[in-house]
Amino acid sequence: MEKKSMLYEGKAKRVYETEHPDQYIVSYKDDATAFNGLKKGTIEGKGVINNQMSNLMMQLLERKGVPTHFIEELSERDTLVKKVSIVPLEVIVRNLAAGSFSARYGVAEGTVFDEPTLEFSYKNDELGDPLLNDRHAIAMKLATREDIEQISELAFQINQIMKEFFQTIGITLVDFKLEFGRTADGSIVLADEISPDTCRFWDSKTGERLDKDRFRRDLGNVEGAYQEMIRRITSAEA
Ligand code: UDP
Repeated sequence: MEKKSMLYEGKAKRVYETEHPDQYIVSYKDDATAFNGLKKGTIEGKGVINNQMSNLMMQLLERKGVPTHFIEELSERDTLVKKVSIVPLEVIVRNLAAGSFSARYGVAEGTVFDEPTLEFSYKNDELGDPLLNDRHAIAMKLATREDIEQISELAFQINQIMKEFFQTIGITLVDFKLEFGRTADGSIVLADEISPDTCRFWDSKTGERLDKDRFRRDLGNVEGAYQEMIRRITSAEA
């Protein structure tokens, strides 16, 4: 499958049309942004790692019955996916308090929740992806009640599968962001990516951060963190 015209260039990926009307190619870049694009940089080799890791996670989820956009890895940076229209919600699952949750509610980072929690943001860069609740999403026709119910159920199911997997490689899955899309036949599938750009990964023993917080917070050795994550994941898969 060949790339045809570029449809869209995002912060970390480009999306291309293919000769197949129902299939796109996503191509992962090394570009990194944070704080709604205010901070920009490059994480050497990130695109290669995120492509591989996201595809491994999507395949793990598929094996456990979660529908995803993944079709086939084409190269180090390129993956063939199902064409979807993205539901304009960022779906965030949290197991421990961190980041914006800690800042907003004054809860110390690392506080373990009694049960996982879920929130939605309106995917809109101009507005800075504001937090919104399910009724807001329905009122704004971003999704139907049925969509929200299905997305919430999938998000918790994905959390359970990922949490268990990461535990086996000594990683605490703190939180992560998902995006869902609708395929041509109307079904909802997991889309976008699962990577250290979109998840918080803490070493279970040392608490060391192995994700994009190293970039956001200038903690150093950003590349090393991404490499360590893919190393652990591929050694578990082998
Ligand atoms: N996240 C993301 N994209 C965003 C916002 C958040 O992938 O635009 C991820 C982030 O990496 C983290 C989780 O979602 O794993 C929760 O992020 P949070 O709301 O705490 O925001 P942040 O502190 O990153 O601004």
